[in-house]
Amino acid sequence: MATTVRGEVTCLSCGRFLGVIETTDGRLRIVRPGSGGVLPRVDRGHLRCGRCGGRAIVETSMDSVYAA
Ligand SMILES: [Zn+2]
Repeated sequence: MATTVRGEVTCLSCGRFLGVIETTDGRLRIVRPGSGGVLPRVDRGHLRCGRCGGRAIVETSMDSVYAA
């Protein structure tokens, strides 16, 4: 059974909200793009800002894990 975790992606460099992602068994899916249509991208296993290329982090919320 797959475990899906949802999280909000934020860039550490420019502080931009990059959208909401879901990870299921290590696969990443964009649920909702961030402001201005900016998307996070994966570079060698690390999330990066689609705008400035800075490092992005995922903040997971247990409340929204199974909310779809
Ligand atoms: Zn950025």
